[in-house]
Amino acid sequence: MDVVHSVDRMREISSSHRRAGETVALVPTMGALHAGHLALVRRAGSVASRVVVSIFVNPSQFGPEEDLASYPRDLQSDLAALEPLGVDHVFNPDASEVYPQGYQTRVRVTEVENHLCGLSRPVHFSGVATVVLKLFNMCLPDYAIFGMKDYQQVRVIERMVQDLNVGVEIVRHPTVRESDGLAMSSRNRYLTSDQRKRAPAIYATLKRLKNDVMTGLRDAAVILERGRRELTEAGLDLEYLNVCDAGTLDDVARVEDTVLIAAAVRLGAARLIDNVLVNPFEEEDA
Ligand code: AMP
Repeated sequence: MDVVHSVDRMREISSSHRRAGETVALVPTMGALHAGHLALVRRAGSVASRVVVSIFVNPSQFGPEEDLASYPRDLQSDLAALEPLGVDHVFNPDASEVYPQGYQTRVRVTEVENHLCGLSRPVHFSGVATVVLKLFNMCLPDYAIFGMKDYQQVRVIERMVQDLNVGVEIVRHPTVRESDGLAMSSRNRYLTSDQRKRAPAIYATLKRLKNDVMTGLRDAAVILERGRRELTEAGLDLEYLNVCDAGTLDDVARVEDTVLIAAAVRLGAARLIDNVLVNPFEEEDA
């Protein structure tokens, strides 16, 4: 497994793979890899002949009060986790090469970012869109794999790719969970053992709400009222719970098509997000 730090070298490597008729799949990550990331890497290996995993803690997606300085970084253990998976290249550029002196361009997906996490993290999604477009230009992938845990991020990237005619196919991968349902996250390590015990209530509630919708509940206000009550009773400090259109992320008053039910909670030092996609009309469509 080849670790690449230089942007020019990364482009040369991917160009030569593509010239040789191979396909390249990119898995963008910020490191501190867990089984969720590794599932994306395996998926990458199933869609393309060459796999590139980028590890870059992107400063432009963190707000001034956020955890950029303390974000977990451990390249050696990340490399050890990737080694057995048949990854061809790990791209680990330096921030000074990604954002050199004089850097000033930002990509903004103006409407999709203006919901859910974007409301409390005003610079986050433009930082994500910017770095992902840069990573696409540096790694020249045919495919890029993104986790559904960060559903709003997936929609931001899909919209950007469509709007800017980017020639990369976006592959969505389902959320990987702990055995008690908690979505895996590099930030779960911030939880104390008491907080860790409370955290599975997020997904338990989302699953119950999904079941309510699948069995006929359509009124978003009722869904939200049930969900808020359960999360509060579980001792969680709710930042948001929304029922929204799965494409635009606009809130809906009634479930009439596929919806996303998404939540963010604050639990001590951690901010945890999770979501479920719900399409009660699936069977009728099929
Ligand atoms: P991050 O390193 O947190 O920026 O995440 C890198 C990629 O891994 C993103 O596409 C995330 O959505 C994805 N990811 C993170 N956690 C999970 C998870 N539990 N299940 C599936 N994908 C995940």
